[in-house]
Amino acid sequence: MSHELPKAYEPGAIEARWAEYWKQEKLFQAATAPEGHVRDVFSLLLPPPNVTGRLHMGHMLNQTEMDIIIRWHRMRGDLTLWLPGTDHAGIATQMMVERQLRSENKSRRDLGREAFIERVWCWRKQYGGAILDQMKRLGASVDWEREYFTMDENLSRAVREVFVRLHDQGLIYRGKYIVNWCPDCGTAISDLEVKHEDVPGKLYEIRYPVVGSTEFITVATTRPETMLGDTAIAVNATDERYAHLHGKSVILPLMNREIPIILDELANPEFGTGAVKVTPAHDPNDFQAGLRHNLPQIDVMDERAHMNQNAGPYAGLDRFEARKRILVDLEAHGFLVTVKDYTISIGKCDRSGTVVEPRLSEQWFVKIEPLAKRAIEVVEKGYIRFTPENYKTIYLNWMYNIHDWCISRQLWWGHRIPAWRCSDCREVIVARATPAKCAKCGSAKLEQDTDVLDTWFSSALLPFTTLGWPEATRDLDVFYPTSLLITGFDILFFWVARMIMMGCWFMMPPEKPVRPGEKAQSPEEALRNSVPFREVYIHALVRDAEGEKMSKVKGNVIDPIQVIEKYGTDATRFTLAAMASPGTDVAFNPSRTEGYRNFANKIWNAARFMFMNIDRLGAGRTLLSTNHVGQGVAGFNAENLEDRWILSRFNGVAAYVNQALEEYRFHEAANRIYDFFWGEVCDWYIELIKPRLMFEHGGNKKAAEGACTNLVTLFDASLRLLHPVMPFITEEIWHAIYDGKPPLKSIALAAFPQSDSQQIDLKSETHMAVLQDLIVSVRNLRAEMKVEPKVKAPIQIYTHEPEIRRLIEQNLGAVTNDRQANVESVTFVESSLAKLPGARHTARFDVHLVYEQEIDVAAECERLRKELDKLEKEIEGAKRQLSNDGFLAKAPTKVVEGLRKQMQEKELLREKTQGKRKELGCP
Ligand SMILES: [Zn+2]
Ligand SMILES: [Zn+2]
Repeated sequence: MSHELPKAYEPGAIEARWAEYWKQEKLFQAATAPEGHVRDVFSLLLPPPNVTGRLHMGHMLNQTEMDIIIRWHRMRGDLTLWLPGTDHAGIATQMMVERQLRSENKSRRDLGREAFIERVWCWRKQYGGAILDQMKRLGASVDWEREYFTMDENLSRAVREVFVRLHDQGLIYRGKYIVNWCPDCGTAISDLEVKHEDVPGKLYEIRYPVVGSTEFITVATTRPETMLGDTAIAVNATDERYAHLHGKSVILPLMNREIPIILDELANPEFGTGAVKVTPAHDPNDFQAGLRHNLPQIDVMDERAHMNQNAGPYAGLDRFEARKRILVDLEAHGFLVTVKDYTISIGKCDRSGTVVEPRLSEQWFVKIEPLAKRAIEVVEKGYIRFTPENYKTIYLNWMYNIHDWCISRQLWWGHRIPAWRCSDCREVIVARATPAKCAKCGSAKLEQDTDVLDTWFSSALLPFTTLGWPEATRDLDVFYPTSLLITGFDILFFWVARMIMMGCWFMMPPEKPVRPGEKAQSPEEALRNSVPFREVYIHALVRDAEGEKMSKVKGNVIDPIQVIEKYGTDATRFTLAAMASPGTDVAFNPSRTEGYRNFANKIWNAARFMFMNIDRLGAGRTLLSTNHVGQGVAGFNAENLEDRWILSRFNGVAAYVNQALEEYRFHEAANRIYDFFWGEVCDWYIELIKPRLMFEHGGNKKAAEGACTNLVTLFDASLRLLHPVMPFITEEIWHAIYDGKPPLKSIALAAFPQSDSQQIDLKSETHMAVLQDLIVSVRNLRAEMKVEPKVKAPIQIYTHEPEIRRLIEQNLGAVTNDRQANVESVTFVESSLAKLPGARHTARFDVHLVYEQEIDVAAECERLRKELDKLEKEIEGAKRQLSNDGFLAKAPTKVVEGLRKQMQEKELLREKTQGKRKELGCP
């Protein structure tokens, strides 16, 4: 793939080409290491997007972060696996296909179960890959060879295996239960799928006549239609008001049924009348009270929330219509006491927006307590670490109060529950495969349960089922526990918590499959290694530029594909990375993406400049030998100050970036690379070596070639540093460096730069900082004093340090150069210039631009104030870094020393600046 770099940087074509190349070459395939491997392993599961999904900014952020981390680990030489797949997404997919059918004037019942499921598979074949195709555009370096679908045969088999085992262990049971019922979706939904909102409503007080008395008991309700199913009135045993009614009963108005007055905690004497109606079939608390008192459960609604035959004269009415009629009738008969305005909290189905009805039904449950216990223990013991840390508390609080998990759904699309009922003796048989006959009576008339499992049941198993469980595979051995999970807060309980519960249950002895010859672990080790992942990173939300949550209603949804089409994937990824500070939402502003496209452009142009010089020097692109693929910048010959300086800076940046990625501080890594590549490599280093490269004007060719080799070497290393964030442009230029014959198939397989403390040279950094200060000071003075660009002006310098004077004298060329300070002559003077107009002072020198110009005191004060602000910020930043224990522990001593020294200088400069402001009489 030999090619010159085209003049203009066009991300579209480049990105499509490399995305395809990576996939074709199977570059990210994680072949399982042979037995006895010694490499570190880094494995990561992609949170499987719904097969119905379309890529949104949340995915884009999440996948960018995962891709940065996995590319970084891969380049560090780890054996990496990033496992992609899609989720069959029960309700979402079924509804999608049902909608399609509706447009053909058909329903799923017209098709029947089998034909409908076939139709869903067709739909999936046709549209289900869309989100993965979008992922390819992002450059996600997943192992496409291992792509799975949660309904694949091997995964389905594992789901049945888990179900049967849990059932055999008594951890799956069938029971009547009050579930959240969505009348629109026609299925039970979990607590997590119910969204609560406060709305204005009414509180109705209804009075029930006491049998054999003229008294009434008054109760209050917000859902009067449920009274038709009342089976008791409860009062508190301590409530004196009702003491004389203990053991009596009341007549249920409208239904004329006699129901008992019971004594139960459900009734709170402090609240309202102190008496409450009890409707076991339509309220979770009443359901529990009903169990305590052995009350009948009268279900008065059907699955569409219409009143059923138990509702007497109201049968057939929709629940809200029934409410109106009931109120009219209560009023007419004098049972309605008052109607008050009241704020009610209603639960709505997350998917359809329909008001959820608490409903009694027969469901399958996981007895969660034993699983939760272990899942709490591993987090409490730190075997799973959360970033940001506060999610640990959120997780634990939820786990301490967890309820049994209702896992059955009244859908057709999903893993069908592996349970059969005998039509003859009603025995229920749970089995791995369809049983031939009833285990109890021998009948062959068996019918499979019509429900399917909650989608989250199968996704909770993915960390081990995708690696081959229940078989004792080598993959399980190598890649489990996975290293990291990156996901959003919204699925912390749906998914993360359940993966922990299932992982710690099925990957612990005796459930864990054992490989022949495997060493036994201590119980504690086994627990530590049962976790599905060692770390969880919870990423933030992506909001719009104003920080508002994106929503279709508000119309502020940013489509990542549109941003990518406009600015390129690299720039979009960089935007997200540069803003992805742990725990802070990202306010996505496309104007920043434009800025990062300019960054890519800058790198592109710098690369073209480099190639132009290589060609001009007739050096060929093969200046580099394979050793440049090493860790740092081997082969770089640091002869001149700017070479020693950039080499030292590079190593400091490498240390910083590695540390930032270690702590998921993506924003710090990205911003540091940006500042280095643009600010130091492109703006300073390349400018400083230009005179050497242009040997025709009195230089020598050998020095030019040396400068060119250094530039290429540095560029190669900087590309590797940038690669995890901007994979495409770095791949393109890297291949061009090697003239299409790179030592490896991809920069993604080259080494990520590590800091080499031998190459850190603080003296050169200090010296370079002085020269930069000098050049920038003169440039600023020229601008302020409006010196024409063509005019070279003389400067005077005062310094009390002989070393600084020597430094400037030795590098006069760099200062006077018209690309730099454009200075006519330099004179050293013996006394401070700080008080002169048209002068600047720094910690190490004063400089005076000799040019006739009145100084504007107000503007100068303002400039100094800004400078002070900047210094304060820099000092504060350095202090923060110097108090970061992680950084101190890992950064090379020289880097830390350098930082300390810089801080001291900045503090000195702050003092000087304050002094000058005082002299000028600034406000
Ligand atoms: Zn619904
Ligand atoms: Zn039977």
